[in-house]
Amino acid sequence: MSGHYLIIGAGFAGAVCAERLAACGNRVLIADKRPHIAGNAYDEYDSNGILIHPYGPHIFHTNSKRIFEYLSQFTHWRFYEHRVLARVNGAELPIPINRTTINKLYDLDLSEADAKAYIENVRVKLDRVATSEDVVLSSVGHDLCEKFFRGYTLKQWGLDLSQLSAGVAARIPTRSNDDDRYFGDTMQFMPADGYTSMFKKMLANPNIEVRLDTDGLELKRKGDFSHVIYTGPLDAYFDYRLGRLPYRSLRFEHEHLPTTERLQKVGTVNYPNDEQFTRITEFKHLTGQSHPGTSIVREYPQADGDPFYPIPRPENEAKFQEYKAMADTEQGVTFVGRLAQYRYYNMDQVVGAALVVADELTGEK
Ligand code: FAD
Ligand code: UDP
Repeated sequence: MSGHYLIIGAGFAGAVCAERLAACGNRVLIADKRPHIAGNAYDEYDSNGILIHPYGPHIFHTNSKRIFEYLSQFTHWRFYEHRVLARVNGAELPIPINRTTINKLYDLDLSEADAKAYIENVRVKLDRVATSEDVVLSSVGHDLCEKFFRGYTLKQWGLDLSQLSAGVAARIPTRSNDDDRYFGDTMQFMPADGYTSMFKKMLANPNIEVRLDTDGLELKRKGDFSHVIYTGPLDAYFDYRLGRLPYRSLRFEHEHLPTTERLQKVGTVNYPNDEQFTRITEFKHLTGQSHPGTSIVREYPQADGDPFYPIPRPENEAKFQEYKAMADTEQGVTFVGRLAQYRYYNMDQVVGAALVVADELTGEK
């Protein structure tokens, strides 16, 4: 029997659920507080005609064929492998740390086997890896930890590496070869016409009504829906009854350089030690757009503002579990997405989680 669903949030989690439910004949009302769809993946042309990501750089990467094929129904892709340099000791060096990083930083000429031995020698052998500090020390040792990770992490999270769960720093691999790609996934692409265009196609089914600038929780209180899917911050849903679940925010400083065709050698340059911002991204690298000027964004981490990141550390996980226990008893509501599940998910992981929810609700699996 078809139902009438309310979906709160039109990011990846909400849009995937909406698309799947509508395809099975359900009516879907999807609401977002913001004036646009696509959540944090939203992209738009700035006033100079350059496609930018207002909420920071988004690069799609996945190892999941199912997720890639699912999204491929709504977009063509542009092959793009993201590369990042970190400004350390006045030089721009590859991050993730690889053979080139070590050779350039220390003025060495190590072969791949030498680089492997070098890393093995400097890394700290630990019996137990619990924090992000443990991860970095056991991967690259003290000096590289201080130069590439300690300062960046302090800026990004307002916390020391030792105060964050292992998963945060474990996102960044260590390599003894010359592979300088930021991600190691088998599939790395950008949606050819951008994310917003892809979302428009996902939400094109006439069974879906999109309402922007709308608080979905207000609609929930007023409306009569057979089921609700909530993708916003978990603590907000419960009116912060158990106190704040910490999320990290960012301030984005966008800039257009009208006479610079290309500013950076690669898409992103990280600033682990100097500057207040963590990184500068130049969008034309990601999108492949041709333009006589260029548009960039600097990311300044901050405590207050839109919730962008869950903060993975044991006390926050404990608070999340308290909220989750409440969520589990909430009748007729499913919680999914990076904010609602309080997981440091990439886009593909959110798509995967949403597909699981949709399968359960439609009885597909
Ligand atoms: P969101 O995109 O946050 O969507 C949730 C939506 O819910 C929001 O639009 C919000 O307005 C809305 N909402 C909340 N409460 C309400 C309410 N009460 N009523 C109505 N609407 C509400 N992932 C990658 O894979 N690759 C990357 O390169 C990458 N880069 C990133 C860079 C930055 C700076 C950030 C912050 C994230 C990045 N991510 C990246 C992660 C990616 O943004 C997320 O995984 C994904 O967008 C999460 O989708 P979501 O639907 O769970 O949440
Ligand atoms: N990190 C770091 N130095 C870097 C890049 C990353 O210390 O040059 C650490 C930092 O703690 C960061 C985490 O690794 O928050 C994850 O980095 P990623 O680039 O995946 O963060 P995101 O793109 O999600 O902001």
